[in-house]
Amino acid sequence: MTDSLISSAYSQALEVIASVEPRIAEATRQELADQRGSLKLIASENYASPAVLMTMGTWFSDKYAEGTVGHRFYAGCQNVDTVESLAAEHARELFGAPYAYVQPHSGIDANLVAFWSILANKVESPYLEKLQAKNVNELSEADWETLRHEFGNQRLLGMSLDAGGHLTHGFRPNISGKMFHQQQYGTDPETGLLDYDAVAAKAREFKPLVLVAGYSAYPRRVNFAKMREIADEVGAVLMVDMAHFAGLVAGKVFTGEENPVPYAHLTTTTTHKSLRGPRGGMVLAQEEFAADVDRGCPMVLGGPLSHVMAAKAVAFAEARTPDFQAYAQRIADNAKSLADGFLTRGANLVTGGTDNHIVLLDVSSFGLTGRQAESALLDAGVVTNRNSVPADPNGAWYTSGIRLGTPALTTRGFGHDEFDTVAELIVDVLSNTEAGTTKAGGPSKASYVLGDGVADRVTKQSAEMLDKHPLYPGLVLS
Ligand SMILES: *Cc1c(COP(=O)(O)O)cnc(C)c1O
Repeated sequence: MTDSLISSAYSQALEVIASVEPRIAEATRQELADQRGSLKLIASENYASPAVLMTMGTWFSDKYAEGTVGHRFYAGCQNVDTVESLAAEHARELFGAPYAYVQPHSGIDANLVAFWSILANKVESPYLEKLQAKNVNELSEADWETLRHEFGNQRLLGMSLDAGGHLTHGFRPNISGKMFHQQQYGTDPETGLLDYDAVAAKAREFKPLVLVAGYSAYPRRVNFAKMREIADEVGAVLMVDMAHFAGLVAGKVFTGEENPVPYAHLTTTTTHKSLRGPRGGMVLAQEEFAADVDRGCPMVLGGPLSHVMAAKAVAFAEARTPDFQAYAQRIADNAKSLADGFLTRGANLVTGGTDNHIVLLDVSSFGLTGRQAESALLDAGVVTNRNSVPADPNGAWYTSGIRLGTPALTTRGFGHDEFDTVAELIVDVLSNTEAGTTKAGGPSKASYVLGDGVADRVTKQSAEMLDKHPLYPGLVLS
């Protein structure tokens, strides 16, 4: 019943689209076919449910709703209020958070809202008080100049990009690295693990206003109680960016000191990675930051995407079910199977394994850069992305690693045996790929030669697994 409903709904929607711009309908069909036919190991991607996807395609997209629930700058927002309150209520319940702000359009936007609210809340300045008391006109040009200086020269300590942190955690070229006076902490050069004593020592010396925890490419769990202790010792605000692992928190795989929400002053996230919702972001906050977070739109963000907030509510409703908890546990179990598959075949993993959803494969033992490995794997239908390893000798462009994640294929139903086979296929490709040479005859970091027949062999084996675990089974487009 549901299958045929979904099939006819999408088939008819595509017909409507085709009547206006057939090439978009065609690209949309092709995207489904491509997603169905590839081994998606990109750690930040997933497949949202048809209910989540369909919720995004409605007339809520047409409504402006700047402001917050019950306090809008536009008339006629009663239904948006229903949607936003419900999404926030589900989020608070799901994560046990005192406050949830569901308007951010993406993870980066959520971080900007968090930064803004920390500055507004914590920077002490008589000028700022005047601003907030709305005596804006009392500020002279010189006052504004002082205010800009006080507001803009705060300190932020975050995890470095090559240790697995995100660009928005103080990476110099990113706005976070320009708006803040930043320093970065890394991982232990021997073990690749987070060294809390080293983070604490850096924090004592640097005395940041903001300590950022969270990652995009670190294959281990973080103890957020320890991070909070460090923040408290130096009087910093702890901001945790759980963009990657929010699904593991929602699914109760990360509990106790591994759950950031009770420890962080502000927790930011995406909703579309392991959480498997619509493309979007969210900020969870302790009460003291709620009013400042609420000013996110229109101070930092464009008008809220009501259709996406609606889809967030649907996704959160899915995430509070026992089914989702079982899914989240399988994500972590499958990452272990994948890591073990590599280790038994002699490959090197950063930190020697995983205890979340990420496996970071160091491809230098195959004589390849991350860029060569990524391209060779793609030729064989294996979609991954290259990633730096700690103190990467090949820099951030060529890199020496491949980042792999289990959320997407776990959604398709892959289990232990399939992930062991995935490791086998990847090792097969990489051990049959040779680094190429430059035009001048020197070693190249980009070109490569994939052995004869390898791509066909691997594509065939993955097709068998993909056919066995179809994406959106029952969805047939006419
Ligand atoms: C993916 C990610 C983001 C950015 O999310 P977008 O939705 O792409 O803006 C931010 N922080 C971390 C840690 C991430 O992994």
